[in-house]
Amino acid sequence: MDVFKDLYQQLIIDHNQNPHNFRELEDASHSAEGHNPLCGDEITVSLIAKDGIIKDITFIGSGCAISKASASIMTSILKNMKVEDANALFENFHTLATTGESPGDMGKLSVLAGVHKYPARVKCATLAWHTFYGALTNTKEKIITE
Ligand code: ZN
Repeated sequence: MDVFKDLYQQLIIDHNQNPHNFRELEDASHSAEGHNPLCGDEITVSLIAKDGIIKDITFIGSGCAISKASASIMTSILKNMKVEDANALFENFHTLATTGESPGDMGKLSVLAGVHKYPARVKCATLAWHTFYGALTNTKEKIITE
């Protein structure tokens, strides 16, 4: 039951069932596709960045509960955030997901800290973030988690 306690907290279940910002984005200034071959998660992240601020950010795709909840929480948090702050948060989230250590106040993202104990699940949790970063840096190739 530990896996469930670590990974399937209520907030994750809620975001999986009712994902936020789960839609196509017209007029996106940036978008990228991501794929996690270990689990089969597929995601496309689209955003509108203007004047150094993420005005809107959405995702579509299919994947496991962790990948979907992570993308849902990520888009909720990044919307209206400064691009530079979003980049810093990407770094911090990567640390959180891979070590379980919180490099600062991670807010709702901290529900995903438990994934660090399950290396295969780390990719599910970080896929949306890598794809977001790929979109921001105009990466044309599909983002593949290793
Ligand atoms: Zn997954």
